[in-house]
Amino acid sequence: MESARLQIARVFGIPVYLHASWLIIFGLITWSLASHYFPARYPDLPLASYWARGLVTSVLFFVSIFLHEMGHALVARRYGVKIRSITLFIFGGVAHMEGEPPDGRTEVRIAAVGPVVSMALAGFFYLLSTAPVLGPASRAVYGYLALINLVLALFNLVPAFPLDGGRVLRGLLWSRAGRLRATRIAARAGRTFALLLIGLGVFGFLTGDAVSGIWFALIGWFLREAAAGAYHQARLDETLAGMTAADMMLTEVATLPAHISVAEAAQQHFLRTGHGGYPVVRGDEVVGVLSLRDVLRLGLEEREATSVQGAMKPLSEAVVVRPQTPLREALARMAAGPGRALVLDDGRLVGFLTLSSVLRHLRVREALGD
Ligand SMILES: [Zn+2]
Repeated sequence: MESARLQIARVFGIPVYLHASWLIIFGLITWSLASHYFPARYPDLPLASYWARGLVTSVLFFVSIFLHEMGHALVARRYGVKIRSITLFIFGGVAHMEGEPPDGRTEVRIAAVGPVVSMALAGFFYLLSTAPVLGPASRAVYGYLALINLVLALFNLVPAFPLDGGRVLRGLLWSRAGRLRATRIAARAGRTFALLLIGLGVFGFLTGDAVSGIWFALIGWFLREAAAGAYHQARLDETLAGMTAADMMLTEVATLPAHISVAEAAQQHFLRTGHGGYPVVRGDEVVGVLSLRDVLRLGLEEREATSVQGAMKPLSEAVVVRPQTPLREALARMAAGPGRALVLDDGRLVGFLTLSSVLRHLRVREALGD
């Protein structure tokens, strides 16, 4: 999903992407307006006029969705939640938040503003559609936009996570039920609604309305995936919330002596154990980290000539955490860097944290139902 998108703008410092699926919907809307909607209402206009109106309507629809997402982004920013990017895709958009809202009230505000913006747009376009100074065909454009913004607002208000309405529901339940239970309830509502849509889609398909049938089923399928993903994410966050680096670090750590050559380290250590990285020690003192990537940067001859000390990341560049560092913070720093962290207590090496060890650990916990 991340790759099939195109950056089209940067607004308030937030990159705005267009998902590839938008090109399809853009074409579909323009086509159905130009060849069905407008000709059915205004049969006597020239063909080019239908297509021009179809195109203008599509662009304005696109702008409407963009404004809806900007609403989320700006309110989120006001409450200190960073927005990484906005992606506009097939039936709406997503404002990707960097973190989670800090509390339920904030979540309600961030989620509710989107449908509010869509409602306001619906009202605005409705007023335009009744303006007597405009010709009937222009009024039809605005009438269509009023309708589609209303549909957008209502669809997003369905209390099915991760739709806006589901987020509002989660925000309202948050203070009473806790974030995880609130997410579970909202995600379950999302799944139910998704299954309903899929059912409706199949029914439509079987009774001869194939296009809207497929349409409903697709949206339902997408929602179901999104609800499940959001719930897993929430559960993972919850699991990680109370944990520290000490809970998941490897305590029996294999180390590399600083003075041996990189070639020897590769032969005698990396190849033997399959580890992707080692803390490097000189005597009792830990001085850095050597990862497989550091080894691969060197040619075969350079590996003979370079010591581990010369090739490693020194302590100043390595990710160093303390045993009591929150696991989430440690993981965030590891993810931005080489994927492993030294756990030091008063300068003494007490453990090694790697992404794969954390994942393994989480899987065992999940299997044991903890
Ligand atoms: Zn929204």
